[in-house]
Order: sequence, then structure tokens, then C-alpha cells
Amino acid sequence: MAVDFNTLTKDYSGELYFNDTIEHQAVRIAYSTDASVYQEMPVAVAIPKDTADIRRLIEFAGQHGLTLVPRTAGTSLAGQVVSHGVIVDVSKYLNAILEVNPEEKWVRVQPGVVRDDLNAWLKPLGLMFGPETSTASRAMIGGMIGNNSCGLHSRIWGNTRDHLLEVTAILANGTEMVFGPIDVRAARQEHPIYPAILDLIEHGANQSLITGNFPKRSVPRRNSGYALDHLVDQLSHSGRINLCSLIAGSEGTLCFVTEAKLKLIDLPPKEVGMVAVHCSSLQEALQANLVAVRSGCAASELVDHVILEQAMNNPEQAQNRSFLVGEPNAILMVEFFDESSDALRQKCVDLVAAFTQAGIGYAYPVLTGIETKNAWDLRKAGLGLLRNIKGNAQPVNLIEDCSVAIEDLPAYIGELESLLARHGTQYSMYAHAGDGELHVEPMIDLQSATGRQLFKTILAETADLIKKYKGSLSGEHGDGRLRGQFIPVVMGPEIYHLFTQVKSIFDHRGLFNKGKITDTPDMLTNLRYSGFKANAHQCSDMRFFGDSLIMIL
Ligand SMILES: Cc1cc2nc3c(=O)[nH]c(=O)nc-3n(C[C@H](O)[C@H](O)[C@H](O)COP(=O)(O)OP(=O)(O)OC[C@H]3O[C@@H](n4cnc5c(N)ncnc54)[C@H](O)[C@@H]3O)c2cc1C
Repeated sequence: MAVDFNTLTKDYSGELYFNDTIEHQAVRIAYSTDASVYQEMPVAVAIPKDTADIRRLIEFAGQHGLTLVPRTAGTSLAGQVVSHGVIVDVSKYLNAILEVNPEEKWVRVQPGVVRDDLNAWLKPLGLMFGPETSTASRAMIGGMIGNNSCGLHSRIWGNTRDHLLEVTAILANGTEMVFGPIDVRAARQEHPIYPAILDLIEHGANQSLITGNFPKRSVPRRNSGYALDHLVDQLSHSGRINLCSLIAGSEGTLCFVTEAKLKLIDLPPKEVGMVAVHCSSLQEALQANLVAVRSGCAASELVDHVILEQAMNNPEQAQNRSFLVGEPNAILMVEFFDESSDALRQKCVDLVAAFTQAGIGYAYPVLTGIETKNAWDLRKAGLGLLRNIKGNAQPVNLIEDCSVAIEDLPAYIGELESLLARHGTQYSMYAHAGDGELHVEPMIDLQSATGRQLFKTILAETADLIKKYKGSLSGEHGDGRLRGQFIPVVMGPEIYHLFTQVKSIFDHRGLFNKGKITDTPDMLTNLRYSGFKANAHQCSDMRFFGDSLIMIL
């Protein structure tokens, strides 16, 4: 039976779009997708004014068996905010910076605060929120928590989980909770979530399962499933737990975050420099990466020849290529910070010496100041440049977020290249070599049925590789409805069973963001390319320009 949203509007003060009028349909279509390849028409879109509205929405969803999806900027790449349920966008009204304590270095914010806006506000205090994403000018704290986001400086600035001190959230039963560090003995007397989670992670057999089946210790980026491994570590190291570790990376499936207390760090030293080592092959660049990470660099990022060639066709990025020498197959950009320009230059000189001594690379331009920024602009333009490739076979986000230990990267990438060659698939790769994660983007025609089948086959076979190397299916983008199906394959059925228990401890009715992390449908379900029916009689077509969905009326 159709849900009567008119009964909700009486004691709800936010915006709500749920009917078949053109305005409501247009809003629902706009929220039917994110930056992923998925699309599904939500039954409603809600834009709550305050936490009382969120509580009311949770109550209503519970009464009517609806799933409710917390959403901020909607830049997720794996379909995390695509659903047939109620999309709840907190970016419009829940976007205040509430309190800052410069001495103790923390800030308290609502989930709709944009990461770069927060840092612009903090700059006069000499502080910043470290974790970044390429989308930091739009991505918001709620979404960064949901995906446990991080970026190209995660070697030194970590991920969102590392900086999440406290979370205020509304649970599926409408209770408001503040999650923060708590002594295990005290936790047992707290809300029933605590003893239930403690029973799960203190159980000896479960601890062995977690130790044995989560990514190996040396994998720096580990974003698949619920972070039970972090809780086990907290338990053994401090006798305290902080369930924020579980909420970070939970893709909106456990609770609705309404406030977050974030740890801040000092602004980075002012001198910035980079060595851009030029390599004749991808494998050589991956060997360079092993040398670079030993140097204490702030970032080590790879750009392959496909992106470098694409940059020639883009007037802005063509200029940013000016530091290139010859035609490298791949370059590795290794960045350092320092307070002193002399010390900075010395770090670069030492690294170049290490490369030449190891016989790696053929050119080593050292860039400083604005030259560094231009080189980073070229690297960050990677994804956009790839999207300009002509033809139906387009680079897809699929295995781009799989990560392994840094020392395993050369062997893993070697096997992945063989896998892609077996399928006759072209690809590009770039990004976070220094964190064991290359964004490998196979070029696949998702308009065709064979392309869609290939899409699934490549992920299935890569999942087996990730399992072999004890890596992580997702390093920063999350699994969403893209990779979620393969969590049990990579981490094993027993770990998956623990995840279903976590979900049920927080949300036994499946109210929050159903079908993400647990019970994920087949990855080919609700692909944007396979006949999305919006029923919007006035909307003749929809096109994506970058991240934005434009409706053509
Ligand atoms: C071009 C491009 C580049 C990208 N590069 C990076 C990168 O470098 N690093 C990186 O980490 N990611 C990257 N991403 C992915 C994405 O931008 C980030 O994960 C970003 O932090 C998501 O923020 P958002 O505000 O868009 O969240 P959304 O997409 O709106 O939501 C993300 C998740 O958080 C949950 N959520 C949102 N608000 C709440 C809340 N209040 N309570 C509970 N759960 C909530 C949602 O349900 C969802 O599961 C990239 C994406 C694109 C399109």
C-alpha cells in the first residue's frame, strides 16, 4: 500500500518531496543518483530543518517499513546514497560550526559542513581538519564520516576515523546517543549497544576471526565492512572503546549523525616541494614508490601515461605538463613539507640520490612553490581527464578503490594487469601509490550487455586477487552497492556474519540505508545504463556533467 506522506507533514517542519507533481518528481530524480553508476527513484526526499525533524522522519520510516538514507553532498562513487527509500539531505540546514577549542585542538560541527569551508574558517587559528578528498570543496563532514574519507596526504594526515573524537547520533528507535571514548567496564552499564558490541569483540573465537580475515596489518587503507579490527585493537591497547570507529565508514547504515567532534591538527609547514621521478614503465614507478615511502614523504602519487597523454588535449592541463621531460610511461610525484627551504631542498636532493643509486628513473625534476601546485592540479585532474576519452568504452569506477600493502603493490598490480589483458581491457591507473592504493580504471562499455557482464567479471576476479594479497576491497571510496556483494568473498562468510550482527545490534529493523555493507543486491542491479524509468513526464533526458545531474526538460 502506498505510504501517505501527508500524515508526516503535520508535525515536520522541513521540506518534503514525495508526490507525482513535476516539482516533486524533479527533486526525486535529482536525488535518484550520486557520482556512481547507479540510479533508483526514491519514494521521497526530505530536507530536515533540525534534529527534531530527523527524529520524526526516523519514527515515520519505522512505522511504514521504509529505509532512510542520510545524505550530504552525494559525491559517493559506489552508490552509497542511491535507494528506493527516503533520502534525507542535511546539507541545507544542518551545516553549522558549533564550537571550537583551539587549545585542545577540536571543533564540533553539524554534518552538512563542507570540508574546505571548515578549513577556511579554521585557518586564522592556525589549525585544520586533516583528512581530505579530491572533492573537499563539496564533500561534507557527514559524508566523510560515512565513507571514512581520506586523500593524497593520508600518509601524514590520516583518515576521518583517526580524527573523529565524538559523534552525536540518533538511533533507529529515536534515542539520541553521544558516542566517544569510554572505559570498557563503564560501557557495560551503558546503552545496550555497548554490551552487545563488547560481547561480539571480546569473544575469543571472534577475535581470531577478525585478526585472521581482516586486511593484513600493513595495509594502510582498509575501508571494507565495519571496522571491528579497530575496536579489537582499542580493547587490547587501552581497555577503552570508541564506537565512533565503527560509525566511521559505516555508510549511513548504523545511525543518523547529527554532530561530530573532530580532532584538529596544526597547519602544515609553509615550504612545499616535490620530486617528480620519470619512469619508463609502471613497474619501475612502483619500485620508485618503495624508495619514496622510506624517505618520510608527505605523499607519493602516481600518474600514468594515459592521463599524461589526455592532458595534452586540455588547455589548462597541457600547461601543467611543462615539467615533463620526454615521454615517461609513468611519473611518481613525491612531496615533502618543511619549515625551512634549505631543509626541504635537502630532502629532495637526498631522494633523487636514492633513486639514482637504485637505478630507478631517468629524470628527476624538483618542483617548489607554485610548480608543485600545478603538478598536483595535473594529478587531481586525472579522473576528469579520463572522462574525456572518446568512444563507448569509458573508464569506470569498479576496482579503483582496492588497496593492498605498499610492498605488495608491484606484484598485485602486475597480476591485475595480466587479468585485464586476459579480458582485452584497456585501463588507466593513478593516485595513492604511497598508501598501497592505485585507482585502476578499466575502460568498459556499460551501455552493452557484454560490457556489463565484463564489469562484474573484472570485479569478481579482482576480489579474488585482493583476498590473495589480504588487502581491502575498498580503501577510501567505500563499497556501497558496487562492491558490497563481494565483502563476504574477500573477508569470508564468518566475518560477514559478524557484520550482520553489528547491523542488527544498531538497527535490527534495517531502517538505515538498507542494502549497503550487508544484504547488498547484485552489483548489476539498478545500473543507470539499464533503463531507469523516472515517470517524470516533463523530463525528456538526463545527462551528467562532471558530478552534476542535469535534467533536460
Ligand atoms: C571525482 C571524485 C573524486 C573523489 N575523490 C575522493 C578522495 O580523494 N578520497 C575519498 O575519500 N573520497 C573521494 N571521493 C568520494 C566522495 O567524494 C567522498 O567519499 C566524500 O567524502 C563523500 O562526501 P559527501 O558529502 O558527498 O557524502 P555522501 O555521498 O552524501 O554520503 C556518503 C556516505 O555517508 C553517509 N552519511 C552522510 N551523512 C550522514 C549522516 N549525517 N549520518 C550518517 N551517515 C551519513 C551516507 O549515507 C553515505 O553512505 C571522490 C568522489 C568523486 C566524485
